[in-house]
Amino acid sequence: MLRQRTLKQTVSTVGIGLHSGKKVSMTLRPASSNTGIVFRRVDMSPPTLVELHPERVGETMLCTALIQNEAKVATVEHLLSALAGLGIDNLYVDLDAAEVPIMDGSAGPFLYLLLSAGIEELKAPKRFIRIKKPIGAQRGDGWAKLLPFDGFKASFEIDFSHPAVNATAQSLEINFSCQGYASEIARARTFGFMRDVEMLRSRNLGLGGSLENAIVLDEFRVLNQDGLRYADEFIRHKILDAIGDLYTLGHGIIGAYQGYKSGHAINNLLARELLLQQDAWEMVTLADEQKAQVIFVDDYAFASV
Ligand SMILES: [Zn+2]
Repeated sequence: MLRQRTLKQTVSTVGIGLHSGKKVSMTLRPASSNTGIVFRRVDMSPPTLVELHPERVGETMLCTALIQNEAKVATVEHLLSALAGLGIDNLYVDLDAAEVPIMDGSAGPFLYLLLSAGIEELKAPKRFIRIKKPIGAQRGDGWAKLLPFDGFKASFEIDFSHPAVNATAQSLEINFSCQGYASEIARARTFGFMRDVEMLRSRNLGLGGSLENAIVLDEFRVLNQDGLRYADEFIRHKILDAIGDLYTLGHGIIGAYQGYKSGHAINNLLARELLLQQDAWEMVTLADEQKAQVIFVDDYAFASV
């Protein structure tokens, strides 16, 4: 039986918030079976919990933000993506500010941090959401779907009319039973356009954004001196985001995700739609031999990343 996972020990890191530009400390602590992923705002008195659920997603403009009562935790998607990649079910995420640190704009530093803590298997069986019927969400000309599939794969298509993005592949499919999350997706960074920077700063957003934690493009080219980490890093990051956004459901998915010009808002609509369409999916547990299809990163494979 494939079992639930948490961390072996507590680990901490410090970074800056993408929006606030301020220092944020984050501590990840092991949690028992069926706790789920629980954020704690330890700067609030008393410390305030923010639980993971698609209906707690309160903002999706530039990141995915969870809001519960007075407590908000923004930019959760890259950490959630790394947690999905490692199949971690239960964890406390303690933060002393209203956002998860942006690190280098990818999920790579989170993956490294989680693996450095070690992964602990718990007694309770791990539960997956198995898609039985197609589910879709649409907004404007973008859409996202979940379809039945024996494993997990994600395909995405973007349509940016920008010379530097046009030069890269704008569609991609990754089948995680044979392609690893750590090597194919985790290191892809978020990206932004110079023309948006002033607009964001005037709204007090993106104050921590820089060439250190994003791919930044002007009208013609990528401004980062070292260029891209993958030839098609933009679309890989969109898959990274979709995996993180769907992990607000708190369980891995057995099915196929398809996104066309999707983003945090449409991904959240899709997760909410899934919860409404109760005959379109079921909760399942899996035998060990099915593990390879659904766990994106084998713990021991990290040495090869
Ligand atoms: Zn992102």
